[in-house]
Amino acid sequence: MENILEETRFIMRKYGIRANKSLGQNFLINSEVVESIVNSSEISEEDMVIEIGPGLGTLTKYLLEKAGKVLCIELDTRMIEILEDRFGNYDNFEVINQDVLKVNLNEIIKENKEDGKIKNVKVVANLPYYITTPIIMKLLEDKLDIKSITVMIQKEVADRLVETPGGKDTGAITYSVYYYCESEKIMEVPNSSFIPEPEVTSEVIKMTLRDKPVVELENPKVMFMIIKSAFMQRRKTLLNALTNTKVFLSKQEGIEILNKLNLGENVRAEKLSIEDFANIARLIQGGK
Ligand code: SAM
Repeated sequence: MENILEETRFIMRKYGIRANKSLGQNFLINSEVVESIVNSSEISEEDMVIEIGPGLGTLTKYLLEKAGKVLCIELDTRMIEILEDRFGNYDNFEVINQDVLKVNLNEIIKENKEDGKIKNVKVVANLPYYITTPIIMKLLEDKLDIKSITVMIQKEVADRLVETPGGKDTGAITYSVYYYCESEKIMEVPNSSFIPEPEVTSEVIKMTLRDKPVVELENPKVMFMIIKSAFMQRRKTLLNALTNTKVFLSKQEGIEILNKLNLGENVRAEKLSIEDFANIARLIQGGK
C-alpha cells in the first residue's frame, strides 16, 4: 500500500479541502487500518460494496480492486469531484451525492442484483460519527438484502454493538444488533490514524447478518418498544421502568410476569437476555 498520509495531504492540497467537522470528516491515514477493513470485509468479484461516506476515496481505491461494484454514497459535494476524477474511469465505480439516511437502499440493491452478476451486497464504511446509530439502525431495520456491515465507529458505541445482551456494555442497541447479526471486534484504532484526529478512540467491527433472527416473534416491534422503555430509565429496576412507561398495566401485573419468567423483582434491564425480553413481549400480548 502506498503512503496514505502523503496521498491524503496531496489530494487535500490539490483540491483545497479542509475537513468539515460538522460532517464528521476524519480522513483515514493508517494503511494497516485500511488493509484490516478491506480484508475483514471479505469482498469478491461477486459482491457489490456499498461504501457510506467515501470522502477522499482512501478506502474506495482498495475496495474497487476487489469488488464487482463499489457504490459510494457521499453527502459532501466537494468529494464528488475528487471521487469522479480519481475513479471515473473504473467501470465498477458509482457515486451518489446524497444523505445516506434519505437513500432508498432496498431499491438500489434490487436494481443492482437484477442481472445476476452481483450475488451479495456488503456495507463497508468509516462512518461519520455524528450519525453512527441512525445509520446502523437504518441498515438493520430496513431489512436489506445484505450479508455484512464492516464499519469503523467510536469505540464506546462499538463496545455496545458487539456486546452479548447481559454483558457489561449492554444498552438498548445491543439487543437490536444481536437480534439481526453476529458481530465481532476487528481492531481498535488510535486517534493518530486520522487527519484531523477525532476526540475519541475508534474501533472497526463487523456485523454479519443472521439467516433468521435469534428469537421468533410475531411482532418484534413490541419487543423493541419494551427494550426502549426499559433502557429509558436504566437506573430504575426493570419493574419500575416498565410500570412507569405503562408497558406493565400495574406493578402487580409486572410482578406476576417477572415471577413467571423467574426474574427477580429487583432485576435491571441490562441483565436480561433477548429471550427474556421476547418472553415479556409474548406475555403482555397474551402468549403469542
Ligand atoms: N471514508 C473516508 C476515510 O476513511 O477517510 C472518510 C470518512 S469520514 C469519517 C465520514 C464521511 O462521511 C465524510 O466524507 C463525510 O462527508 C461523509 N458523510 C457525512 N454525513 C453523511 C451523510 N449523511 N450521508 C453520506 N455521507 C456522509
